[in-house]
Amino acid sequence: MLIFKWGKNKVEQNKKQRKIERECLDLIFESARSVYPKEFGGLLRVDDSKRIINEVVLLPGTISGDSHAIFKMYMRPIDFSLVGTVHSHPSYSFYPSGADIQFFQKFGKVHIITANPFNDSSWGAFDYNGKKLDIEVI
Ligand SMILES: [Zn+2]
Repeated sequence: MLIFKWGKNKVEQNKKQRKIERECLDLIFESARSVYPKEFGGLLRVDDSKRIINEVVLLPGTISGDSHAIFKMYMRPIDFSLVGTVHSHPSYSFYPSGADIQFFQKFGKVHIITANPFNDSSWGAFDYNGKKLDIEVI
């Protein structure tokens, strides 16, 4: 009985866990590499289940190298499938800066940062407080 209950909870937890599609994550890495050493910025879109991130909306004008300036224009999206942001760090740290966290608190539930060299070992997802989120790649 206890085992059954534990198993059920585990399934529910997995159902709630956010996921990202492999292709989507690869697009993030490619975009970050293509603008390096500048930063790129984008918005994350989820599918109908609201759990699987399957699209990156790339923001034009990634010229200034300041992702916060780029995002300012897109602060109030009317599209509720947009759940968060993604940006790149030219450095080797994918952890959010103080300015990043201030920015996260204005919009979105999930924020992905990828750092140099922009691959599976150099990215992280964070909530609006900068707490690391566990996101499964599918
Ligand atoms: Zn940042």
